[in-house]
Amino acid sequence: ACPEEEGFPKAVCPREEEEEEEEYRRPVTFTLGNEILGLGPETEFQNPDAEVYMHFLRSHCCYDAIPTSCKLVVFDISLEIKKAFLALVANGVRAAPLWDSKKQSFVGMLTITDFINILHRYYRSPLVQIYEVEEHKIETWREVYLQGSLKPLVHISPSNSLFDAVYCLIKHKIHRLPVIEPISGNVLHILTHKRILKFLQIFGSTIPKPRFLKKTVQELCIGTFRDLAVVPETAPLHTALDIFVDRRVSALPVINDSGQVVGLYSRFDVIHLAAQKTYNNLDISVREALQQRSICLEGVLTCYPHEPMEDIIDRIAKEQVHRLVLVDENRYPRGIVSLSDILQALVLTPAGIDALNS
Ligand code: ADP
Ligand code: ADP
Ligand code: AMP
Repeated sequence: ACPEEEGFPKAVCPREEEEEEEEYRRPVTFTLGNEILGLGPETEFQNPDAEVYMHFLRSHCCYDAIPTSCKLVVFDISLEIKKAFLALVANGVRAAPLWDSKKQSFVGMLTITDFINILHRYYRSPLVQIYEVEEHKIETWREVYLQGSLKPLVHISPSNSLFDAVYCLIKHKIHRLPVIEPISGNVLHILTHKRILKFLQIFGSTIPKPRFLKKTVQELCIGTFRDLAVVPETAPLHTALDIFVDRRVSALPVINDSGQVVGLYSRFDVIHLAAQKTYNNLDISVREALQQRSICLEGVLTCYPHEPMEDIIDRIAKEQVHRLVLVDENRYPRGIVSLSDILQALVLTPAGIDALNS
């Protein structure tokens, strides 16, 4: 039996291998689009041993990755925006499913990205209070301002495979996937890339690692290595929010006057503005915003092009972050290795699926 760890519900061991499906053997027909760093890496993912994580996650369901106990905060869409974000902070959670009492169903998620979108849209200057944050309800924001672009809730059933969960997260470019019990309609948990990686690390440790993980990030090209979105430490914070909105990236390497990486500002860090009620002044510099974070990691977690992929994955899992910044020996930014890139390469690429770039 496997150890019961990290709140995973029970001993989850590899099930009997399902009959190999035809699509498992489909050849990989694309590259990761990161050819700048090296030769096309696609052959690495064509070996049968590259498919182990794909098979493993196909043979385990979302229920297997749900903790035995966890906090889940749900908001009614009639709640005021300000109260909702303060409640996220007070409860120490990063996102909440949204309940529509008229429809008697969950209609969406409220995440820190929504807070960024609201600030981006309504911020004028430190002298003008953001009336909309103070007064508007979640439903006002959703109905009036997101009208054209309201996306239906992306969710998954506990009996769907973890492979499907990875596909959903990456395909829809979201970071929160509610697991909804189809009969009761209850949200059981919110799955994230981090939780799935942890599941792989704990329960996948009994299966042999694919050989390609011994290769370097440079050889494998797992990550983004061109058109990096970065922010100067002297830039006003609203510039960082503009970049989050325009580029839809989850974090920005922060650079000094020489262009070297000196920090990292992630979407998550914006929640500190709600916690400290300082969102009315987005003219402070990114450097000041980094200093004002109450709880944060010291410095910036990086990796180098010559490091083996397995070391990078171990560091991401150990530090519980969503990405590492790839730097050269002079600390100039050369790329981002995010959990989206890693799960795409470990789980979807061996299945011949490119959800990240489609
Ligand atoms: P964050 O990284 O800040 O937690 P996400 O990347 O998950 O945010 O969210 C990006 C956008 O997609 C937000 O507007 C959020 O409300 C929306 N969103 C997040 N998860 C879902 C989901 N499961 N279904 C529909 N929309 C979602
Ligand atoms: P989430 O769990 O919402 O995806 P993140 O991993 O983006 O959150 O961020 C959580 C915290 O860790 C934030 O304070 C962020 O600045 C910090 N962080 C994330 N990645 C790094 C990194 N590579 N180096 C330093 N700090 C990081
Ligand atoms: P994420 O939003 O971190 O899950 O990553 C989604 C994709 O965006 C991945 O391919 C990342 O490598 C890429 N990415 C993340 N942050 C940045 C950034 N600052 N600049 C460019 N690409 C990024």
